[in-house]
Amino acid sequence: MRYNVAQLLKAPIGAVRHYHIDEDVTGLDPDLVPTERLRGEVTLLRTGNGILVTGHLTTEVEVVCSRCLEPSSVALEVDLEEEFRPTVDVITGRHLLMEEEDQALWIDAQHILDLHEVVRQNLLLALPLHPLCREDCAGICPQCGQNLNEGPCDCIATEVDPRWSALLELKLDQ
Ligand SMILES: [Zn+2]
Ligand SMILES: [Zn+2]
Repeated sequence: MRYNVAQLLKAPIGAVRHYHIDEDVTGLDPDLVPTERLRGEVTLLRTGNGILVTGHLTTEVEVVCSRCLEPSSVALEVDLEEEFRPTVDVITGRHLLMEEEDQALWIDAQHILDLHEVVRQNLLLALPLHPLCREDCAGICPQCGQNLNEGPCDCIATEVDPRWSALLELKLDQ
């Protein structure tokens, strides 16, 4: 995900390059534990200001289910659309004035466009706030802590109000 864009910067506006991404992103961020490689396609388009990167990337990362607390994995998708700016004029070698806050979008003095920081930020944004191991995860019993996906615990039976037990038996008979 590091591209030398010297030639593309010298190309006319509208010139494009396509790249296939298939990369192990282990270590990209402590909060991202990939269980799959990062895969997808990106397009680099020469614009008047720099290079517009668009693309679609997918991977899979480890999460902890927010209901049952078991380790699970979740698919992440990222749609990129970011314009990178050269820090040095590719023809004259002159340093250009840059906005400090956009450092992730700087093309360095060696004309390397590095997608790692932008991809890291987008993957973190794509992480679900409350991941589930599956849509209908039953969670854990708040009393005994048993994982209810593995079956009911004994608490449920004893919780039933005796006045309702007749009704419960009625239901079971049906
Ligand atoms: Zn779960
Ligand atoms: Zn229980």
